[in-house]
Amino acid sequence: MEINLISDTVTKPTPGMLDAMMSAKVGDDVFKNDPSVNALEDKVAKMFNKEAALFFPSGTMTNQTAIKLHTNPGDQLICDKYAHVYNYEGGGVSFNSGVSCKLVDGYRGMMTAEQVVSAINPPDFYHSPLTTLVCIENTANKGGGACWDFAQLKRIKSVCNEHNLGYHLDGARLWNALVAKNEEAANYGNLFDTISVCLSKGLGCPVGSVLVGNDADIQRAMRIRKVFGGGMRQAGFLAAAAIYALDHQVARLAEDHQRAKEIGAVLERLAYIKTVEPIETNIIIFELDENQMGAEEFLRRLKENQVEIIGMGQGKLRIVTHLDYTDQKHERFLTILNEL
Ligand SMILES: *Cc1c(COP(=O)(O)O)cnc(C)c1O
Repeated sequence: MEINLISDTVTKPTPGMLDAMMSAKVGDDVFKNDPSVNALEDKVAKMFNKEAALFFPSGTMTNQTAIKLHTNPGDQLICDKYAHVYNYEGGGVSFNSGVSCKLVDGYRGMMTAEQVVSAINPPDFYHSPLTTLVCIENTANKGGGACWDFAQLKRIKSVCNEHNLGYHLDGARLWNALVAKNEEAANYGNLFDTISVCLSKGLGCPVGSVLVGNDADIQRAMRIRKVFGGGMRQAGFLAAAAIYALDHQVARLAEDHQRAKEIGAVLERLAYIKTVEPIETNIIIFELDENQMGAEEFLRRLKENQVEIIGMGQGKLRIVTHLDYTDQKHERFLTILNEL
C-alpha cells in the first residue's frame, strides 16, 4: 500500500467529482460564457460576502494577481518570513510586480499588529520603498498549518486602514482554518480586500483557485490574469469539480485534522523525535534528534515501507494528511511508525 503524505495536493478526483465534471455545462470562459465557471464564481463570491470572484488555474497566479492589483513597481509589501508569496512563488513578487517584501519575524508564520506597524516605511521618507500592501497566510503552511487568531487579523486591518495599505489573504488552506476554528467565510470576506483560496489542496480538485474582491478589483484582475496567460476556455469542467468539492468535501477536512493529531501523538512517543510542532489542522512539522536518527535515514526507512513525506529544510520534516489518506492507510502508517 503506497502512502503519499508529501502534500494535500496529491489527491485524485473522487468518482462523485468525476461525474460532476463529465456532466458539466461549458462554454468559452475567456468570453465569460462558461456557465459552470460563472456559477462557481458567484458561489464563492457569495460565501465570502464579496461582490465578485475570478477562477484561476493556480494559487500562485491568484496571489500574484492580487499583489499586482494592490501595488505599483517599486512598492514594498509586508509579510511573515515564512510566507508562501515570498518563499514559494519563484520570486514572482519582484518578477511580476516589481515589488519587494519586508519580512516580519513572526511566530509560526503569523505576525502581530505591532510588528506590522514597525515594518511600515514612513510614506514621506522617499529613500525607502513605499509600503502599500500587507499579505497574510491562513492557515500558515510553513508555520505547520497554524490558524490565525481572528482578533489579531482585525487589529492588522485597523493598521491597514490607518496607513492606507491593501490587505490580501493567501487563503490556500483557509478552508482548513474555517473548519478547525468553526469560523465563517463571510467574516474573512468582510475584513480583507482580496482573498485567494485553493481548490486543489484539501478540497481534492485537480486544478483551481479563486480570487474574491470588489467589482472594480476583479474587473482589473481579469486583465492581469489575461496578461499572466491564465485565461482558460472550457474551464467549466474544472469549475464543476470545484462546485462539487465545495458542496461535499469541506466538512470532511475535520477528519484530516483528527488523523494529523493522531500521527502527532505517535511521533511524540518516538525516542528519536526531538520536537513536534503544535498540530491545529492537516500539517505536521517535526524534527528528529539527529544523534539518534538522521532525517535521511528516517525518510529511507519510510520509503522502504512505501511511505513518502518531505523535508522542509533546516532539519524539519513535514507530513500532510488529505482526502486520499484513508482510515486504512492511516492505520497502516501508525503501525509502520510504531515499528520503525
Ligand atoms: C499551495 C499554496 C499556494 C498556491 O500554490 P499553487 O501550487 O500555485 O496552487 C499559495 N499559498 C499557500 C500558502 C500554499 O500552500
